[in-house]
Amino acid sequence: MKIFHLSAECYPVAKVGGLGDVVGALPKYQTLAGMQAAVVLPFYNRKFVQENEFDIVFEASNLLGKQRLEFQIWKESTDKLGFELYLIYIPGLLDRTEVYSYPDEREQFIAYQLAFLDWITWSQQKPDIIHCHDHHTGLVPFLLQHSALYKRLSKTPTVFTIHNGQYHGAFGYEKFIYLPEVDMNYAGLIDWAGGINPLAAAVKCSDRYTTVSPSYLEELQLNSNGLEYLFFTERARGLGIINGIDTEVWNPAADAMIAAKIAADQPEQGKLKNKQALCKRFGLSPELPLIAFIGRLVVEKGSDLLPEAISQSLTAYVGKVNFLILGTGDKETEEALELLNAQFPDNYKSYIGYNEELAHLVYAGSDFLLMPSRVEPCGLNQLYALRYGTVPIVRRTGGLKDTVIDFGEEDGYGICFNNDTFIEIVNSVNRAIVLFENTAHLALLRKRMMALDFSWSQSAAQYTQLYKSLTPEI
Ligand code: ADP
Repeated sequence: MKIFHLSAECYPVAKVGGLGDVVGALPKYQTLAGMQAAVVLPFYNRKFVQENEFDIVFEASNLLGKQRLEFQIWKESTDKLGFELYLIYIPGLLDRTEVYSYPDEREQFIAYQLAFLDWITWSQQKPDIIHCHDHHTGLVPFLLQHSALYKRLSKTPTVFTIHNGQYHGAFGYEKFIYLPEVDMNYAGLIDWAGGINPLAAAVKCSDRYTTVSPSYLEELQLNSNGLEYLFFTERARGLGIINGIDTEVWNPAADAMIAAKIAADQPEQGKLKNKQALCKRFGLSPELPLIAFIGRLVVEKGSDLLPEAISQSLTAYVGKVNFLILGTGDKETEEALELLNAQFPDNYKSYIGYNEELAHLVYAGSDFLLMPSRVEPCGLNQLYALRYGTVPIVRRTGGLKDTVIDFGEEDGYGICFNNDTFIEIVNSVNRAIVLFENTAHLALLRKRMMALDFSWSQSAAQYTQLYKSLTPEI
């Protein structure tokens, strides 16, 4: 079975968040399972691309509105990621360093999708499944079915996975000219609330859509930035499949980015060495429980709650706990988090920025990982934390609800709270301090969580089952 994954991110080529992790791992596991998986990304002028060999496998031009765009398809020569990697290179549009946030982002992603469709149409490829990820690829299912240009492929089943339903990639009808000729009888399929909405279009037009956790599938009907009614009416075609983690990249027993290996059956010594290294780097005492946060500093993640929640905790539990933040995002939150450094110099440190290597050490060296998310489609951080013997402290939402059981419950291992309020975060910090002081309990929980299996094998099998249901003839 040949699967094309379309995505804006893929680790290690370009990663901003969980989307990159998933698209860097799932195709690898699919290849191992005997499928032919390929990832098609926009071209990014980044380290991985600069340091590896690529062949140009296709060249053509197509139209974006009135503008003729020359494009090339680059293929990584050795399939070193464990799957075929293709980049769509369009000089002036898809040749930049950053993944998002350019003013012409809509044009970038439309051009990317059109070039992909043009390439597979004219190079006579015959994918069995086209698997689109998030809104950047959301127009593909509609265009395949309703543009005369791609009729040859109109029967190709499409799967659309929602990694983040808060972002829709919507734009106004003034950009309709960027789309090729489409059957206007069906133009309503790309519309939502009087604009073109790629996320809505993909939910309506893909053969099946999936979310990255079962709870998130339900929650989108209540909170999806205006698409609640759509998710309610389309719910029967939705399927929640929890993400796995790449156990090669995230392996505490062999991770070259951490200070000491951590053995799943005897984690204490490895955990301590990593904690000592991490605390030394940030000038914190390794004697106290260390609660970390890693992630994008955005409202979805509840990061705006952190400054006040940390300040209240450090005032309530003086000299009893340390906090460490690794994140980047909203400027206001970044500034508020940086201000705490002066207020609590002995018990708090922030690193404002993105640092993949440091993230590994933080998962390995912290005792607890705090995730006060308001919305969490799956959440990978808690899964990495579990694998590195770090107790997750999470708000019960989306994938966090599906993957973390409170330690007060049968076979539990985490600390869970219900609401995005300071009092519940501060109470959870207290539970963490008390747990830390009970070394026997903490040791037991560490072993319990490090024995959990969140590898891709189970989740990848669910995607295979889904693909098979859409391709009964294969
Ligand atoms: P989302 O995709 O919503 O950002 P996920 O939990 O699915 O959230 O994935 C986040 C990924 O990004 C994890 O691999 C996490 O370690 C990584 N990450 C987020 N912020 C940073 C940062 N500042 N430095 C390093 N890694 C980060």
